[in-house]
Amino acid sequence: MAKKDNYSDNVKCSFCGRSSFECKGIIEGPNGVYICDECTEGAHKIIQKNKNSKLELYKTDYIPTPKELKLKLDDYVIGQDYAKTVLSVAVYNHYKRIKFNDFDKKKNDVELEKSNILLLGPTGTGKTLLARTLAGILKVPFAIADATTITEAGYVGDDVETLLLQLLQNANYDVALAERGIVYVDELDKIGRKSESTSITRDVSGEGVQQAMLKMLEGTIQGVPPKGGRKHPEQSLVYINTKNILFICGGAFEGLERIIARRMNKQTIGFNAEHTTKTVESLDLLKFAEPDDLLKFGFIPELIGRLPVYAPLGELDAEALLAILTKPKNAIVKQYKKLMSLDNIELVFDADALKLIVEKAKERKSGARALRSIIESVMIPIMYDLPGQPDIQKCIITADVITNKSEPMIIRQSN
Ligand code: ADP
Repeated sequence: MAKKDNYSDNVKCSFCGRSSFECKGIIEGPNGVYICDECTEGAHKIIQKNKNSKLELYKTDYIPTPKELKLKLDDYVIGQDYAKTVLSVAVYNHYKRIKFNDFDKKKNDVELEKSNILLLGPTGTGKTLLARTLAGILKVPFAIADATTITEAGYVGDDVETLLLQLLQNANYDVALAERGIVYVDELDKIGRKSESTSITRDVSGEGVQQAMLKMLEGTIQGVPPKGGRKHPEQSLVYINTKNILFICGGAFEGLERIIARRMNKQTIGFNAEHTTKTVESLDLLKFAEPDDLLKFGFIPELIGRLPVYAPLGELDAEALLAILTKPKNAIVKQYKKLMSLDNIELVFDADALKLIVEKAKERKSGARALRSIIESVMIPIMYDLPGQPDIQKCIITADVITNKSEPMIIRQSN
């Protein structure tokens, strides 16, 4: 293709029809085809957008099967097999549904409804990690919100706006991609009414928040200022439809087990009901959660209806916590080892040290969350001290280092 100064020829752009006198430049292709500067720019933008959209799951033919999704989750999330299975199926169905409704649906065909997901389980057991990892596996944008921040506004407005802006930014401003993203709403349990006894007279403020959530979950078209905030009032809004966004809501739902146990207890009266409630573990109880239990927990039926998939997570035992330290692809210990290796130092945690970290984490009762902060407090002085020291080959962390009884063992090259 030859670039030609065609100003004198007065040729026309084959795409927009403008003459060479009206454009800043025009390029001649074969067989008398011309393209002007503006059309070139437009074409470039379209190609760029399509490149980004390659990330869009619905445009690619392949949606990972539930088994494939679970296998990938296994690389990052320890245990929680039941929740992983439920999530994998739900997420697979969600993207299949989008594909079907958008592309394959014939007239009068069934409409597949969206199934948002509810993760129920104690803090630090992997709820956020699961949602984030899924988004990573599927290569869709991800955003996190806290249900309690919606409480303050109490209506669809600023908070939803901020949340969708986060999603849009993570989608590289590709609206179509943002509209197929995953949003994790944490602490959903905090917007439920606390008392079961007030189930008839609804808590008005709590309900307002739930209504806001409902609108977002059902599908709403929300104007989002792409530059964020109110600093740029002149900017035009980008409109995002939340219809196909997958919402994964999570919360500890403390007290829900009791509601479930009571209901199940009632049903099992007559054959050793007391024994049943005593032996059932919390996770096992949460597996039996029903819409009615959430109603009693303080949720409006409409919101419960929009969260039909329940994925319960259990407490992490010592074995799981130990595995979390070392096994996942980006395990905490692996990360610190990598950091130190960049200073040519081999970092070693001996088995007793790891065990002790786990014990300390268990005491804090915040699941795996405590692991990082315990290791961090041990590692800060080491990471301060060692870089720059000559000939250090190895740094061994023993149980005594964790309890502050001794310094780490340092092995130098000359030793
Ligand atoms: P929550 O259930 O409160 O949302 P998070 O998913 O935020 O908990 O977990 C906090 C941190 O603990 C995560 O960043 C992750 O490193 C770790 N973690 C928690 N649960 C697991 C798990 N099952 N497998 C691996 N890491 C986990």
